[in-house]
Amino acid sequence: MARTDHRNPNVAGLRPRSRLVHGGVRRSSFDETCEALYQTSGFVYGSAEEAESAFVNDGSRHVYSRFRNPTTAMFEDRLCEYEGAAWAYATTSGMAAVHGALWSNLRTGDRIVAPRSLFISCYWVIKELSARFGVEAVFVDGTDLSQWEEALAKPTKVVFLETPSNPGLEVVDLRAVSALAHKAGAKVVVDNAFATPVLQRPFEMGADVVIYSATKHIDGQGRCLGGIILTSDKQYGSDVIHPYLRHTGPTISPFNAWLLLKGLETLELRVSAQSAAALTVAEFLEGHAKVERVLYPGLASHPQHDLCRSQMTGGGTMLSIFLKGGKEEAFRALNDLRMVMISNNLGDSKSLITHPDTTTHSKLTVEEKAAANIRPNLLRLSVGLEDAQDIVEDLDRALASL
Ligand SMILES: *Cc1c(COP(=O)(O)O)cnc(C)c1O
Repeated sequence: MARTDHRNPNVAGLRPRSRLVHGGVRRSSFDETCEALYQTSGFVYGSAEEAESAFVNDGSRHVYSRFRNPTTAMFEDRLCEYEGAAWAYATTSGMAAVHGALWSNLRTGDRIVAPRSLFISCYWVIKELSARFGVEAVFVDGTDLSQWEEALAKPTKVVFLETPSNPGLEVVDLRAVSALAHKAGAKVVVDNAFATPVLQRPFEMGADVVIYSATKHIDGQGRCLGGIILTSDKQYGSDVIHPYLRHTGPTISPFNAWLLLKGLETLELRVSAQSAAALTVAEFLEGHAKVERVLYPGLASHPQHDLCRSQMTGGGTMLSIFLKGGKEEAFRALNDLRMVMISNNLGDSKSLITHPDTTTHSKLTVEEKAAANIRPNLLRLSVGLEDAQDIVEDLDRALASL
């Protein structure tokens, strides 16, 4: 019987969490324990013939880090395996992933459909670039299936959605919208940043492409920007997405890919703990005398709680808190916090809170804010890895001063 080479464990039989630790490894001839950081832009060849053949047999070996890099490939392969995707490309930021996933496919005269409740830059990349390049962009209420049905009655190239959305926490029915989109001929692109690959598996519900801001939970420790595009269709990845990316160059740096690769090892543990703490915090805030309303997918009071339960295995790490009052109360609460930090980032091991109306979403018009439910009394909380009781006590103290 052949002996196992312990340097190359067979990850195929392992459970998902173990694959986040061992997946995608390309061990070098030095047999290192920790994944090697190949901080290199280029690669050398033994001869002119070898260089020639590297370019003929495209992809058979590394030629330039804009196309592929061994450290970056380990990050891509590890997440691919976990997500159940067939192809991936890591990008310099989440927005580079959104841009690449959409505009590698769109051409003048095409049509894209998306919900109104989106992260501000996702909205810009659709609305502004569609106007510039002659693409018809149709925005719907993402929670209303009849609006999706009407918008997708015409042939459409791309459907883009976030679920839950940032920061409205609106939930889109992934199975129903994917079916409608496919009938209209569209590719379904899901921004899964809020749910994370731990709590929601869009490919199993019909998505064709999944993108992440890896800056958020995948790093989850505030160290670097990053993004990734994954697809279940290998051919589509290599024929449509890859040429656009390799020629336009939104490639992640090997160092950032290495940080994200290490981030994946603890992703499931972190997100599970943060999601459990978020539920504790949401339950505490619900019915609090100074709080008008808490929106959290894991609470029965979320308007789409049943849908959340049917497509997510946890409520996530993000809460929308509508205080009684307006901007003044929101600012006073922020300024009275002692541990939870004021920051517009999210998915971090540190709990972070922001006032979207005056920060992340301040550039929206009054109508756009209304459509995305961005109000002066809204705070967006990203629950971190601290003891949930410390988060509760910090919020309680800050709210008591109102
Ligand atoms: C943060 C975020 C992005 C953008 O990611 P960056 O890494 O900041 O470029 C895209 N979509 C959602 C839902 C986000 O929260």
